[in-house]
Amino acid sequence: MTSIGDYTFWDCTSLTSITIPDGVTSIEWAVFSYCTSLTSVTIPNSVTSIGYSAFGDCAGLTDVYYTGTEDEWWNLVISGTSNNNECLTNATIHYNQSAPVHTHSYTSTITKQPTCTEPGVQTYICKCGETYTEVIPALGHDFSNEWTIDVEPTCTTAGSKSHHCSSCEAKSDVTEIPATGHKFVDKTIAPTYDAEGYTEHTCSVCGYSYRDNYTPKKERADISKATVTVAATSVYTGKALKPTVTVKLGGKTLKSGTDYTVAYKSNTNCGKANITITGKGNYTGTKTATFIIKPAKTTISSVKSPKTKQIKVKWKKSAGGVTGHEVMIATNKKFSKNKKTYTVSGTSTTSKTITGLKKGTTYYAKVRAYKTVGKTKYYGAWSAVKSVKTK
Ligand SMILES: [Zn+2]
Ligand SMILES: [Zn+2]
Ligand SMILES: [Zn+2]
Repeated sequence: MTSIGDYTFWDCTSLTSITIPDGVTSIEWAVFSYCTSLTSVTIPNSVTSIGYSAFGDCAGLTDVYYTGTEDEWWNLVISGTSNNNECLTNATIHYNQSAPVHTHSYTSTITKQPTCTEPGVQTYICKCGETYTEVIPALGHDFSNEWTIDVEPTCTTAGSKSHHCSSCEAKSDVTEIPATGHKFVDKTIAPTYDAEGYTEHTCSVCGYSYRDNYTPKKERADISKATVTVAATSVYTGKALKPTVTVKLGGKTLKSGTDYTVAYKSNTNCGKANITITGKGNYTGTKTATFIIKPAKTTISSVKSPKTKQIKVKWKKSAGGVTGHEVMIATNKKFSKNKKTYTVSGTSTTSKTITGLKKGTTYYAKVRAYKTVGKTKYYGAWSAVKSVKTK
């Protein structure tokens, strides 16, 4: 005796049909209870007993194939303990036959998509509920794309590139891209008087810079080697005199105020005045020069003959610290006949009496002041000429 035990397929809601093998004699209690998708069942005539609620609540059951005769079927249903099996008896009973042989007809769906590295699953399903699956091989990466720069190189650090999979994050052929190196732009800075010159190399990409090719500071020219020329002759005026100076160095005429400054000293009174040239800008050092301030033109006051064979020449006192005066007389206007000169030292003496002259003769006289500097006498201009006839 072969039986299918209690509850064997209980609540198998995916079960749609079943053929109970020939030789089974007993279907025990509740074997197919709640198999709500069950539509077809084949029962062999070897079965002699169907248990309580064996097909209970099999609401979808429509066809029962029984290999025995109608009599045998009713004998089984009546004699068997077939309580609570209305679903079985309500179905269409096909006597003397098994369920028609079913040829599976599958439809397939991809139940798991394959990826580059993981296989997928294709599932085949027949209406009868029969299913099987097939493996879909992993697709493999697709590295046919162009290079992708993963890390840009910089002036000093390497970058990298690779081929990216068109479907996933995978990378292939990771390759180093060498550092680009700096792209220097050179600038030459000329030296100044205060700073060295140099070449500055600056990277136009990252800004890094360095200097080299230093050149020494410029040297300021020494103005003490200059040639100084003082303009014109200076004559006492009572005011401070500042004659123009020309400063030449190395064949070049320097510019006052830009290349040098000028200071004057002792430049009012007659005598030697001092000039100090001080280098400026591109020039350094000092250079001194002098110039002479000559006495002003003397003003003759009078020429008289106070006594026989005498004349007396008088002039206005000269300002500016003169050393003395020179008086010249002659018997003609050109001072070529009987010319005589007399030196009158001292500033305060303002007349000269000349004796021993010819009687009743016209004498011409003129006066000039002088200033002695060292061993040299510097003369002022002659006064106007005045004349007198001697007594
Ligand atoms: Zn099928
Ligand atoms: Zn991939
Ligand atoms: Zn750089």
